[in-house]
This record gives sequence, C-alpha cells and structure tokens, in this order.
Amino acid sequence: MLASDCADILPIQIEARRRPWPRRLRPALGPENSWNMSTLITEECINCGACEPECPNTAIYEGGAPWELDGASNPAIKEDIYYIAPQKCTECVGFFDQEQCAAVCPVDCCIPDPNIPESEEVLLERARRMHPEQTFGADFPSRFKKG
Ligand code: SF4
Ligand code: SF4
Repeated sequence: MLASDCADILPIQIEARRRPWPRRLRPALGPENSWNMSTLITEECINCGACEPECPNTAIYEGGAPWELDGASNPAIKEDIYYIAPQKCTECVGFFDQEQCAAVCPVDCCIPDPNIPESEEVLLERARRMHPEQTFGADFPSRFKKG
C-alpha cells in the first residue's frame, strides 16, 4: 500500500469511530465526553440505583451528583439518570471477571463502548492508580480472561 493510500483511509477510519450512537444505545454522557469511555449507561436507565454500590471504583453516580477523583470534585456528567465517570471505570478489571454494574442492571443499560475499547493493560493500570494500597497479582480477575 502506498503512503498516499494511508492518507486517504485514515480520515475515514477516524470518522467511523466518531459515528453517533443509535438512539436506543445513546450513552448517558454528552458527546464531548464520548471519546474516552469504557462502560456506559444508556438513556434506558430507570434510576433504580442497583449498580452504584457494586462498583469497586466508585465510578457510578446518581444524576446531578458531582463525581470525585483524587480529592477533586467534578461537575455531574448527567443530571437525570445515573452515569459512570469514565476516568474511574476499569470495566471491573482487577476486581471481577464481569462488569458488576452490567451484572445487576435490570434493564441491561450498562454496556461497553463498541467503538473505542480500552485495553486490559490500560484498565489495570487505572485500577493500580486508584488503589495504590492494593496488589494486583498475575491472576487478577478480568473480563478479558473469560473464554
Ligand atoms: S464496569 Fe465495573 S468499574 Fe466500570 S462502572 Fe461498572 S462496576 Fe464500575
Ligand atoms: S442498575 Fe441500570 S437502571 Fe439501575 S441505576 Fe444502574 S444503570 Fe440505571
């Protein structure tokens, strides 16, 4: 393939990654935040609150509540339904072999972003950063290890 061919294809690939979600699966976060998400809560959330206490990273917040990281308080990402702070979500890597929010959600509205997946390595590093007191051995739980 010629270098000029790559130059033609690359913008198409980037554009494809930015393609808007179908309405049914539209994420709870605004478009300005949609590039760095891992697990998402869609507009189908019924505000039952079941997912919030299950998150090992306290990444889930009620609509309107500010999210916190490293002692800093940040504005709510969503006002009317529960949301996930993407900077804190590890897809449960390091703690469980399945996303716990998805496991308990009665309407299956906790879903992974299919367009921009994050690698297990990146997610584990996030878990290490947020839990410096914890050791993650080689056998750490991860959804990536499920057959
Ligand atoms: S996937 Fe796991 S870490 Fe991410 S928000 Fe859900 S429960 Fe929390
Ligand atoms: S469990 Fe599902 S429906 Fe209930 S608050 Fe969480 S995301 Fe919303």
